[in-house]
Amino acid sequence: MSQARLASCIPLPIEQKTLVNVIEKAKDWALMHGVGMRDRKHFNKDVIQIAPFALLPSPFPKAEFEKAVELQPILNELMHKVAHDDDFLMNTLQNALQVDEFTANLYDIWMKVRKEQVTQSLSLGLFRSDYLMQQHEDRKIKQVEFNTIATSFGAIASYLPSMSRYILRQLGHGDLIKNMPENRALSGLCAGIIEAYDLFGVPTAVVLFVVEEVSYNICDQRFHEFEISEKRPDIMIHRKTLTEINEETELNDKKQLVIDGKPVAVVYYRSGYEPAQYPSTKEWDARLKVERSTAIKCPSIHYQLAGTKKVQQALAGPGVLEKFMGCGASTSRVRDIFTGLYSLDFDESGERAVEMALADADRFVLKPQREGGGNNMYGADVRDALLRMRHSRERAAYILMERILPPLVPGYVVRPNAAMPPPVVDLVSELGIYGVIIGTKDKVYHNRQVGHVLRSKLADANEGGVAAGLGALDSPYLIDIRHKKISKYNTKLL
Ligand code: ADP
Ligand code: MG
Repeated sequence: MSQARLASCIPLPIEQKTLVNVIEKAKDWALMHGVGMRDRKHFNKDVIQIAPFALLPSPFPKAEFEKAVELQPILNELMHKVAHDDDFLMNTLQNALQVDEFTANLYDIWMKVRKEQVTQSLSLGLFRSDYLMQQHEDRKIKQVEFNTIATSFGAIASYLPSMSRYILRQLGHGDLIKNMPENRALSGLCAGIIEAYDLFGVPTAVVLFVVEEVSYNICDQRFHEFEISEKRPDIMIHRKTLTEINEETELNDKKQLVIDGKPVAVVYYRSGYEPAQYPSTKEWDARLKVERSTAIKCPSIHYQLAGTKKVQQALAGPGVLEKFMGCGASTSRVRDIFTGLYSLDFDESGERAVEMALADADRFVLKPQREGGGNNMYGADVRDALLRMRHSRERAAYILMERILPPLVPGYVVRPNAAMPPPVVDLVSELGIYGVIIGTKDKVYHNRQVGHVLRSKLADANEGGVAAGLGALDSPYLIDIRHKKISKYNTKLL
């Protein structure tokens, strides 16, 4: 099926001299406001370069944006309930656990902690629900995934509308600014950490950020620290890798996690979501130590388990949403954002899913229980993988998902060290909505939507990791789809 297009917010292409000039200004704006990253190839802690960004805000249907915003607290609560339903998690994950060592290790920690009595019943969720528009369903949003750990770009995304407004004004289109929503993701996410800190209730306590060995996405992480420090100068933040946590922290007799003599109130993971971040048993020991402690974890291990692809697939099953949410209007609104999700377990429905995918592999994405991008399979790889795994238990570690085909949006991507001027390219945009929830099994203290991020990638790239260099940070330019016609022209004519 050919992909429909949404028209860019201003006519393209931009005349070359104007384009070069505005990109130069935009790059400086980005560098001077921390829309940046560290260079992977020539890593140097003293240097930040621009993070890839879309020069112009990409069009996004207003009604769908608002729907995603409204749904976020509902999804937060749903995931909170799922995470606290031990039987559901066990039944959903049990086949995958037998073949997926990483998920099994997480689950094992959850079992150990439960057996010993959970010492901290509060959990903090800084979530993000991701969506693509499905062009053949009137560009309605469909959920790509629900992230419960290390959700990134909330900080940088908060600066993007301001950057886009500056760029539009430089191009003489300041009148369009009214169509760009404000974004307060950073302050909203940090407020969640501060609220959790206050619920912990120990004035001498500190906050711990769990970080990777090398943080390329350093601006996004540091902005959280700066924001918290500005709002609450009394809160000290430590950054440690899992390896350092193993060596440099201890559990005292009250099960407090202690750093330099101070108890930890909140542990915020910006690492710990993929196997490479646990190079030895030391890192798993560290994770267990944190989980045993009284610190409020963001996420607690059952939140992380609730964020697996397998749980996402199970939630789409008949009657499952109803079990968690009842049969009201919210339930059908949530069901409406799901696209086809299929288990590959060894049973009748798993077999049907394999047949269906083999018959038309291009319609599907094959996903393992992994986070962080670059793990999914598309097209011919889906077919090859299913033929290889068909009779192996390994297949239960994957889910099959209907492929979402979003409309194309023409635009320019600005990257570090790229040839100037960049060409007009076809992009597709993925919207992420941030949510904060704090609660115990029985009581939710805070639950709200706090902001958004738009990431756009080249239309022919399967995945668009910004940190991996494939995607670009973007901002939504809200359009009323009933009035804005889908462009029939190709980019050159726009
Ligand atoms: P991860 O946890 O690795 O981020 P995702 O489920 O978000 O996994 O998939 C990574 C990327 O792959 C998404 O950002 C999106 O670009 C693409 N993708 C994932 N699922 C689909 C789908 N069903 N249809 C089209 N693209 C998808
Ligand atoms: Mg993702």
